[in-house]
This record gives sequence, structure tokens and C-alpha cells, in this order.
Amino acid sequence: MILIKNALNLDGFRTSILIEENRILKVQSDIKVDLPPDTIIIDASDKLAVSGFFNAHTHAAMTLFRGYQDDLSLQDWLDKIFKLEAKYVDKHMVYWCSKLACLEMVSCGTTGFMDMYFFEDEVAQSALDVGLRVVIGEGLLSFETPFCASFKEGLKKTLQLKEKYKNNPKVKVSFAPHSLYTLEKNDLEELASTIDSNDYIQIHLSENMNEVNTILSKYGQNGAFVLDEIGLLNKNTYLAHCTHLTEAEIDLISKKNAHVIHNPQSNLKLSSGIANVCKMIQKGVSVLLGTDGCASNNNLDILEELRTAALLQKLFNPSYMNAKLAVRIAQDFGGFFDVGLSEGKLADVVLFDLNAIEALPMYNPASYLSYAANSKSVDTVIIDGKIIYKNKEFTNVDVGEVKFNVAQIAKKIGSL
Ligand SMILES: [Zn+2]
Repeated sequence: MILIKNALNLDGFRTSILIEENRILKVQSDIKVDLPPDTIIIDASDKLAVSGFFNAHTHAAMTLFRGYQDDLSLQDWLDKIFKLEAKYVDKHMVYWCSKLACLEMVSCGTTGFMDMYFFEDEVAQSALDVGLRVVIGEGLLSFETPFCASFKEGLKKTLQLKEKYKNNPKVKVSFAPHSLYTLEKNDLEELASTIDSNDYIQIHLSENMNEVNTILSKYGQNGAFVLDEIGLLNKNTYLAHCTHLTEAEIDLISKKNAHVIHNPQSNLKLSSGIANVCKMIQKGVSVLLGTDGCASNNNLDILEELRTAALLQKLFNPSYMNAKLAVRIAQDFGGFFDVGLSEGKLADVVLFDLNAIEALPMYNPASYLSYAANSKSVDTVIIDGKIIYKNKEFTNVDVGEVKFNVAQIAKKIGSL
């Protein structure tokens, strides 16, 4: 058992949290029960305790390409990145570079993430080895990838992953068609006829105006309508970016109960635009938050992303995306995992150091998380009832080994 004593919570009250195995057993102002002698007791009187954050859209292994190609638009950037991937992406690279990403995410308070890339079995393994929850998705494209010779092969491998992880509570498997512009219609139709109603789908949609115009001229309608017509828009669909949705698309996504993943920093860096997520939320759309991959961000800091999301929406409305709403979006696990700071929920808890300079004075914890905190303020991260990170150190990962392996892989790119 773990007892977190006397922490400040998001509402500004003192609370204690008792964790048994991987679930939260009690949340009370003071917990007085007989505890087993091996209970870990954390005095959290100088800590803020919050539920873990979910990074809903990333490509973890792209840490390898951090800073390799900056200051380009999406299409120019993708041209360069696809060439790099064809040359350098393999199983070994995906494992170690995803593991580096997992370390970065945990150190920022992220306890779960959704990934789309290649060799996703390795992504799952790296997440499990560090301790994170993960939703994996083998990138499906209508051309050869570093992992698959064809779309059909990618589909087959996704089905194999689904079978492999069907009993693993920390890994979910999604179908991950990359986008409408990298997939042919017949492949999308084959995907729609392969999946069942419980399967998850993640896809990039309406990332920039170039994509919007390409889809309009190819299909004669906007992307959300194309997905709906093919049978790929439902409550288990997760749409990354959605920077340029029309009003009609927002209404359709809301009606279908699909989810939008907001990636504000990547959208800015690739000059894609600013998604009006306030409008989407007002229309009842479920909005989650993601960093996107390291090659277009260039970090995986969910706290930075949260802050950017909250600040950018001020362009549309100064008050709607308030601090509490921004935090809620960053903590939304999108229905994948039942995480939260209440009794019976899965125990993902992040403790922030209230002695940090940027934490003083403390009037409003949600304001602090949205506008002042940074990843250096994260002190302890508990995932699934296990302490993964304590006093800003990993408890069970050889960080030096991860850094060494990534550096060895990066040396090959350095020789380009
Ligand atoms: Zn992406």
C-alpha cells in the first residue's frame, strides 16, 4: 500500500490518498486505518497531488529526429522525415528512442500516451519497461513503410498486436491509418470492413489548409465527411490536429461522439494554424491534448502543451479555456483507462513540489498548473500504484543505458 498524506489537491484542500495495489482505495482529508507494516508513507504536506496526464497523440520514437529538421511547413518537413525514416527506423531504434520518450513523458507528469508509428510492439515494450500505460497504433499507409511492405501487411500486423495484448491491462491496441492523404480510398474501405465496433481508430485530420484542399479536390467534401461515409467516424475515433475543421465537420464529429486531439505546439511549429477547440468543446466535442512527435514540437512536455493550449484560446475568447478546463483536457484519458483521483480509480498520481520558486505563493492550484508550473516542478510520479519517479529520479530504469543507446543510434544520422 501507499499512503500519500496531507497533500494539497486541485480544489485547494488538504487530502490524503490511500493506494492499494493499482487502485485508489480512499481519498479523505485524514485517513486513520490500520495499515500493513510495509506501507509506503509519503508526507506530502509540501506537495500538490493531481491525477496523471495523458499525452493523446505522439510518435514516441521520433525523439531520434528531435531538432534535425526545423522551421519548415508540414509538407516540406514530411518529405524530409519520410526519407529519414526509410533509412533509420528499425526495431532497435524504435525501442530505445521510444524509451527515451517515455522517460521524458514521465518526468513531465505523463502517465499514459497514445502512439502512432512503426514497430509498435517495441513501443509497447518500452512503455511497459518504464511503467507507462500506452495505446499503440501501427502506422497504416498505402505505400511501403520501414515496417510493412503494404497496407494489407500493416493491417495484419495490427490484428496480431491486438491478439498479443488482449489481456494486458496497460496496453490498448488501435488501428492507425496515418491520414486521408497518405491512404487510398480502397484501403480505408478495407480497414472499415475489417474492424469491429469496439476497435479504436486514430488518424491525422485537417492538419493544415494544404491537406484540406487536397481532400476537397479528391473527394469533393471535407475530411470528417469522407471518414463518415467510409464508416470510420464513431465514438472510438480519435482525430489528431483538426486545425481547420468547418462548422459542419465539428457538428458531425460531435454527433458521432468522436474525439479531437489538440496539438497546439506542433500546429504552430509546422505553420499549420490554430484549432478553435473552445468552439468544439462548446459544441459537445470531446477534446484531448497531445504533444505530437518530438520532430515537430520538439519536446514531449505535456505541461508546456497545456499552457500553450490555454494561452492560444485567448485569441478566440479570454475566459472560456480557463485554467481548470485546460488541466481537465490534459488529464482526459479518452476512455482508454479509468484513471482519476477518486476512490476505485486506477492509481496514477503526480506530486508537484510546492517549495519550487514558481509555486509561490499558491492561491489557485489549477492556475499554477496551467500558467506557472513546468516539468521541473514534478517531484513524484505513481503509475498503476507503483512509484516510477521519486525526488526527480527514476526508481527502476537505467537512464544512462537509454541515453547511451540513443546516442549510438543518433551517431549514424550525424554522419549524413
Ligand atoms: Zn502526428
